Amino acid sequence: MRLTDVRHQERAVAILRRALAVDRMHHAYLFDGPAGVGKELTARGLAALLLCARPGDADACGTCPSCQLFATDNHPDFHLIHRGLHKQHPDRSVRASKGLFLAVDLIRHFLIEPASMKPAHGRRRVFVVRDAERMNEGAQNALLKTLEEPPGSAVLILVTASAARLLPTIRSRCQRIPFELLPIEFVASELAGRTDLSPASAQSLAALSDGRLGVALHWHQIGLLDQLAAVDDALQSRGTHDATAFAEMLVQSATTLGQAVLEDQSDEEEAPTRSRGGKSVPTDALRDALKLVLMLLATRYRDALVAAVGAGDLVRLAPATGGLGLTADPPHADEALAAIHEAERNLDRNVAPQLVLERLAVALAGELSLAR
Ligand SMILES: [Zn+2]
Repeated sequence: MRLTDVRHQERAVAILRRALAVDRMHHAYLFDGPAGVGKELTARGLAALLLCARPGDADACGTCPSCQLFATDNHPDFHLIHRGLHKQHPDRSVRASKGLFLAVDLIRHFLIEPASMKPAHGRRRVFVVRDAERMNEGAQNALLKTLEEPPGSAVLILVTASAARLLPTIRSRCQRIPFELLPIEFVASELAGRTDLSPASAQSLAALSDGRLGVALHWHQIGLLDQLAAVDDALQSRGTHDATAFAEMLVQSATTLGQAVLEDQSDEEEAPTRSRGGKSVPTDALRDALKLVLMLLATRYRDALVAAVGAGDLVRLAPATGGLGLTADPPHADEALAAIHEAERNLDRNVAPQLVLERLAVALAGELSLAR
């Protein structure tokens, strides 16, 4: 990955290039912006350039020993800090943890301590912290000193889609580099080029993702669009007042998604724990999956709404709609959307999913009868 290859993040790249041009790199950056828009790729491009032995004006040379090490993901001065590292920690109790967040032991061992060591190969060490907001408070406090007085020539890049969850003292010690949503058309064409999605489905997924390519690719991986059929079946059943059936359909759909997420994760970690067989999905994962299902449901109503007011070009699921023919007059679509958002809030409040969805079914059936 080269800095030159970063697409549609002109502002972020320009700020970095200006600093490079006058040789005034900060030692701590906060790459801040939506998930899946290229923050980590940019961080890698910057790291390659900072570590390169013969950097050109715009990028790493790609051929020096440092660049070759970087390309094989083996550069001893490049450190990617992520939650999965807990499995490599020398302390058995850290290895035994679930690795849900970046704990202080992990940050100390993989960041603070190596940051104080001389570079192994070149002029500096570069540390990239993925999902930096996952550092718990202890980890963030432990990192403050390193951010304040970085040892030697270490460069730290904190990558986050939730900067508000970082302590103000962390944020104020970093230079913020803003990242933006990508153009929908760009995401759609990347999806069409990288996956087996039809152009129409790629367009729908790109629109659903709001221009977050990484998120869209993940949704493709877990088969999000495949669940539209289940959502549509549930929608069609809402008029029958069978709230239980409606809720069961959506829970089943979310369970399928949740299982796909688990499989995707175990692939990523190359963990041998693959014998999922496909039954139980942890409650948190099920809630997250249910929110995706509710997003599909809401998108159907939102599409009906924008179509009703003649803004058909804003329809998101248009190419993949496949003849659902959901029509709604604006006030009722609005109320349906409000009911769906209420369901999302109730999921966050830990109300049981089946109950949340049964209530939603009643609300949506009510909207339907009002619409007649
Ligand atoms: Zn090089």
